[in-house]
Amino acid sequence: MLLPGHDVPLGRYTTVRRLLPQRQRRLVGAWCFVDHFGPEDVAERPGMEVPPHPHTGLQTVTWLVDGEILHRDSLGNVQPIRPGQLNVMTSGHGIAHSERSPAQHPPVMHGVQLWVALPDPARAGAADFAHHADLPRWRDGDLDVTLLVGEFGGEESPAVVHTPLLGAQLEVGGPAPATLPLRRDFEYGLLAMSGSAEADGVAFAPGALLYVGAGRDALTVRAAPGSRLLLLGGAPFEEPLVMWWNFVGRSHEEVAAAREDWMAGRRFGAVADDPAPPLPAPALPTTRLKARDRRGTTLG
Ligand code: MN
Repeated sequence: MLLPGHDVPLGRYTTVRRLLPQRQRRLVGAWCFVDHFGPEDVAERPGMEVPPHPHTGLQTVTWLVDGEILHRDSLGNVQPIRPGQLNVMTSGHGIAHSERSPAQHPPVMHGVQLWVALPDPARAGAADFAHHADLPRWRDGDLDVTLLVGEFGGEESPAVVHTPLLGAQLEVGGPAPATLPLRRDFEYGLLAMSGSAEADGVAFAPGALLYVGAGRDALTVRAAPGSRLLLLGGAPFEEPLVMWWNFVGRSHEEVAAAREDWMAGRRFGAVADDPAPPLPAPALPTTRLKARDRRGTTLG
């Protein structure tokens, strides 16, 4: 099933293609948010400018193909991320961070930011931040594989996650079809960061997510040489979620409490040395936020 994304402004200067969540498909495994940005010419522009904001109930996973972003958080981490590197921030109960291109930055920015829904008890646990500069990387036929998260091809990523999960970048070097080994207990999503590809008889290009359900042993992919694909997978995440602004919770009350804590300067801490004030939360909708399951079905 091909799920077309939509463009969303992020911060003042960046537009992202949002591929998850969608109305009829909220998650792939515990991946609950997929933003693809660029490739974008930022030579004469500020690049990414996202001031301090809070998170709860999730991990943010940032992967860059081009450009540079400086991550600052309320644990005191100040970490540049560059192409080929992965940042994994675990909010636990609460963390705040900012993400900015440095004043002197490469001319092109291209990457993804993904969120992972945390299960109990990790979602109530401690915050954490990890930077991974050396990820497993290997060649398999015409594919150059970089393993971001989980296990694949006999390799294991150092990134810590809390549910069975996979994230892998596939760089396509030649025209031969590639058969990807899948786990029957995982569901999968496949997207093109650049180029074009076809799998299950469906052609796709940047801006859409191919959803591949569970119960499969393999997926054959044909892609134009030079294409860069991202394979996401995981055990279906069965807990209904309330996602609002930067928070992932289980109920309206939880999300409202997170908003109140952020606005009151509680729980999330302060991002040191960021040049801008913290981002105020938008007003809650006048109706109650509803939990939705992974298929988008609304629950009380
Ligand atoms: Mn964030």
